[in-house]
Amino acid sequence: MALKEREQKYRSVEDLPGVGPATAERLRDLGFTTVESIATATISELMAAGLSEKKAYELIALARESIELTWVTAKDLAELRTGLGRITTGSKALDALMGGGVETQSITEFYGEFGSGKSQICHQLAVNVQLPVSRGGLEGSALYIDTENTFRTERIIAMAKHLGLPPELVAERIIYAEAYTSDHQMLLLEKADKVIKENNVRLIIVDSLTAHFRSEYLGRQLLPERQQKLNKHLHRLIRLARAFNAAAVVTNQVMAKPDDFFNQSAVFPVGGHIVGHTSHTRILVRKVAGKRNRIARLVSSPYLPEGEAVFAITEDGIVDVEGED
Ligand code: ADP
Ligand code: MG
Repeated sequence: MALKEREQKYRSVEDLPGVGPATAERLRDLGFTTVESIATATISELMAAGLSEKKAYELIALARESIELTWVTAKDLAELRTGLGRITTGSKALDALMGGGVETQSITEFYGEFGSGKSQICHQLAVNVQLPVSRGGLEGSALYIDTENTFRTERIIAMAKHLGLPPELVAERIIYAEAYTSDHQMLLLEKADKVIKENNVRLIIVDSLTAHFRSEYLGRQLLPERQQKLNKHLHRLIRLARAFNAAAVVTNQVMAKPDDFFNQSAVFPVGGHIVGHTSHTRILVRKVAGKRNRIARLVSSPYLPEGEAVFAITEDGIVDVEGED
């Protein structure tokens, strides 16, 4: 049975057996507003709402059963995978590099230097997710968490016009929040499931994932805490992407590696291994000097070979470069 055909047994947290209004209220206060959020919670998270260990366990089991987050056969898996959606980037070459666009139920990370085009890609995806499936969209809306205050509605309007979409409607379907600190950023995601569900959000953007973490956790002794928090944040993101069949897109800065004698241009993404292991598709974006062209390099993917694609950033948004496919 495909995911989309599955009937959900319990629609709201109150529908779950044994959850009275008071418990529902305490769960809501902790950000557990939907059955999906209970299904993907840990026992200790629910115990924080005053539930006993046994009760927390039962509740998670009921919620999981309800949304069928359970073991599947390989055959089911194939069908589940057909429920995967993809969002076009606007460039056929870049889409092809990723196997047909940015995919749902996993995290795609764009990393690169300042000005390489990461935020422009995010803007474009927030518009494109709204396109009909036949044009490479998912007919959904976008959730946009901005940590660097670089989101511009003007860019959305220009991109929407270029695609022949009604600009105001498109702007209305991008739900935006600026995150002021890393804790605020984490809280925004923790409280996101209601807004995702109510607005048919199919794309969750965190631009940039690491900027706050990087500036707040300075020095070696803070590194373990930073990594632990980033890890938690990313796991929250992947849970949301899976529960709502949404694409998760994050951006990441790069740090130069000055001690790499053999490769002076070597750069590596902030966050190290933890970010690397959790984000499923990683793409390095580079600027070509003096041109609007960009080179995207698929650095890691669960099933695609490494490769490169050239695209361009124009006033109209992300496009293919003439003469290249
Ligand atoms: P990053 O997020 O990687 O730091 P951005 O996504 O903000 O980088 O990319 C900024 C670049 O995008 C600019 O240097 C410019 O090349 C291009 N760009 C931004 N806005 C426009 C526009 N309106 N028309 C053409 N190119 C643009
Ligand atoms: Mg940016």
